[in-house]
Amino acid sequence: MQWYLKDRGATDALIDSDIARSCTSKQQYADEADARAHALMNGMGDVLFSYPCRYCGFWHLTRRPGPR
Ligand SMILES: [Zn+2]
Repeated sequence: MQWYLKDRGATDALIDSDIARSCTSKQQYADEADARAHALMNGMGDVLFSYPCRYCGFWHLTRRPGPR
């Protein structure tokens, strides 16, 4: 299962590990605006960022990997 990480950066690898958890444990959002709205509602707008999930096709929120 590691082959697809080879030509991608460490940040992507971190996000991938988070994505694996996201699909099973996190909320799925229909689009970016929906995901961002939920992050802001929870006061996490500065902490979370949204991304389109390649696995389930919805959007998720995840903590920013590493310091900004
Ligand atoms: Zn997903």
